[in-house]
Amino acid sequence: MKVRFLGTNGWYDTQTGNTICVLIEAGDLSIVLDAGNGIHKLDRYVKEKPAYLFLSHFHMDHIEGMHTMVKMRLESLSIFGMDGTERILNDILRRPYTVPLAEYPYPVTVGELPRDMKKVPFVENVLPLVHASPCIGYRFRLEGKTVAYCTDTGVCDNLVTLAKDADLLITECSELSGRHSDGWPHLNPEDAVAVAQKAGAKRVALVHFNAHLYKTLESREKIQEHLSFKGLTVAFDDSEIEL
Ligand SMILES: [Zn+2]
Ligand SMILES: [Zn+2]
Repeated sequence: MKVRFLGTNGWYDTQTGNTICVLIEAGDLSIVLDAGNGIHKLDRYVKEKPAYLFLSHFHMDHIEGMHTMVKMRLESLSIFGMDGTERILNDILRRPYTVPLAEYPYPVTVGELPRDMKKVPFVENVLPLVHASPCIGYRFRLEGKTVAYCTDTGVCDNLVTLAKDADLLITECSELSGRHSDGWPHLNPEDAVAVAQKAGAKRVALVHFNAHLYKTLESREKIQEHLSFKGLTVAFDDSEIEL
């Protein structure tokens, strides 16, 4: 299984990368996590195959890349998100802003979780996270391995539940070391590693670096100097993990 980080910024694009999007290639499954601007790279890897897109929430940095999806040549696209996803997407993905989903050159369906869990048997669990807007985290079971995807969030019990004994936790690192913002909850590097350790996750990959705070790639690399967790990966755009 390959995990490709197509976009690793939070909030906006800078020279450090695009906003958040992660591709997991597991057998025949192409699983896309969030639709930040990094999603424009998807057709480098996925062509004429079905793809599944899972949305954490509707802050712009997680959906702003959607308007590039019309250029893809997928066999089909199945989009999943929290309750209300279909209405919210149809509100945004329409004229004059962009091409509506119904006019894409491939079939697109929208499902809502947990109601439609049966359609995606490789999704083991979805739970709400703690953020400034409703947001959900995911736990996938793929090729005998568990991968959790949890952004954007503050520290909460559901984050630990989703990451329990995971082979890989992909989570966020919006805040700088030692910083918190209670009004708009996010994780700092110590929080992310503490959650991974509490959950017993084997590996943790940090993504969604707030572009306003992590202005250079060096500022991300420094995280690894201060934290001793063997399974820690600081993700960059176009980096990948073999699982
Ligand atoms: Zn975000
Ligand atoms: Zn957010």
